Amino acid sequence: MTEPKAYNENSPAFDVRTDVKREQWQLLLSNVRASTVPTALVGGLFAVFFSHFASAPHTQWWWAALLSVLAARWWLAAAGEGGLGLRRGPDWCLHLSLFASGLLWGAAPLLVLHHADDTLLFTAVLLAAGVALSAFGSFSVSVAAVVAMVLPIVLGNLAMIALAHSTAYYALGAALLLLYGHQAVVMAQSRRVLAKQIRLRVENALLASQLSAQADKTAAELERRMDTERVLRASRDKAERMSGTDSLTDIANRRYFDRRLKQEISRAFRERTQISLVLCDIDYFKQYNDTYGHQQGDECIKALARVLVAFCRRGGDLAARTGGEEFALILPNTDHAAALRLAENARSAFDGLAIVHAGSALKANATASFGVATMVPAHLEAGEALIRRADQALYLAKSRGRNQVVSESALEQNMRAS
Ligand code: GH3
Ligand code: MG
Ligand code: MG
Repeated sequence: MTEPKAYNENSPAFDVRTDVKREQWQLLLSNVRASTVPTALVGGLFAVFFSHFASAPHTQWWWAALLSVLAARWWLAAAGEGGLGLRRGPDWCLHLSLFASGLLWGAAPLLVLHHADDTLLFTAVLLAAGVALSAFGSFSVSVAAVVAMVLPIVLGNLAMIALAHSTAYYALGAALLLLYGHQAVVMAQSRRVLAKQIRLRVENALLASQLSAQADKTAAELERRMDTERVLRASRDKAERMSGTDSLTDIANRRYFDRRLKQEISRAFRERTQISLVLCDIDYFKQYNDTYGHQQGDECIKALARVLVAFCRRGGDLAARTGGEEFALILPNTDHAAALRLAENARSAFDGLAIVHAGSALKANATASFGVATMVPAHLEAGEALIRRADQALYLAKSRGRNQVVSESALEQNMRAS
């Protein structure tokens, strides 16, 4: 059986009828091949049996002729199926070989035509008729094949019967004609059933390949959409990242800081944990700009950003640039003492960079001041109060001489003192 060819909706050559015909042809070829050996054996037995009564060389010649025809038949069928790797021969060659084998079977009774024993001719006619009747079943897929094989046998049978001039033979001829007629009717019915089966199989194969082509199309479309979605998501993520990133320092900007502070405040509120905020501002930065120029000022801002990021070691910590030379650190789950320590370390690290600042009224290098506040939020809006307290602490750090870390607790002491 051949594989159904792949469905191609653009191919006008795709035609169910052509495929059905091809399947029928393939079935005929395989039946012709399959019938070769049994027919050869029957022919051999026929030859052995009749060689006792007829001339032995005649029966041997007959059998040799039959074997040659059968070999040709087998070869043509195998070539047609592609089994020999050969190109398919013309259809009429196969029909001719069937006709030749029919002719040999039809002529077989001639071998014993003049024998004294009448029953031998009777038997020979019956054997040939048996072969013809089996051809109805074997080759029913093709009317032409059946006619090519059966017609010479029938004609041969009738000729023998006519030559015998006997009522018994006429009765045999009539019986055989009835049998042939009956076989023809049965063959017509089985042909219809077979044709329907083949057609259904071809249509199913076509449907299956249409469905699979459609499934491939849908899968490709799905893949394309997923690709588009991936690209869109990536560009959205990028835009989101960029809108939350400060372009000068590459750390979080004010916008992202506001959002994260809100989230961390509500988390600390829910979990009843402490949250610390550190605000930081470069000292005498206006003078730095004036002395070294805006570009150099930018470098100084970047240097402080790097220091602050380096101290944000825990997963939730965030360093953000909230203004020109102002920064903030959000430290979730961090108590006041730890936040003060972290701020002090950052301050001293920035101081330690020894960025020359001749315009500073404090010392020869750039410094920064820090204000630190900590709380367990009592409500979701507590973030503003946290910023205010850290800012006041920063302001105090400035007023106390800069380059220092001031805790919010100093605010009360300061108020009490004043
Ligand atoms: P203080 O010690 O009290 O903080 O004094 P200050 O001079 O740092 O204070 P102020 O806030 O008055 O000065 C901030 C300066 O920072 C003013 C502005 O020109 C400068 N500035 C703001 N944004 C940028 C920036 O993106 N790049 C640079 N180079 N300078 C900036
Ligand atoms: Mg400032
Ligand atoms: Mg400043």
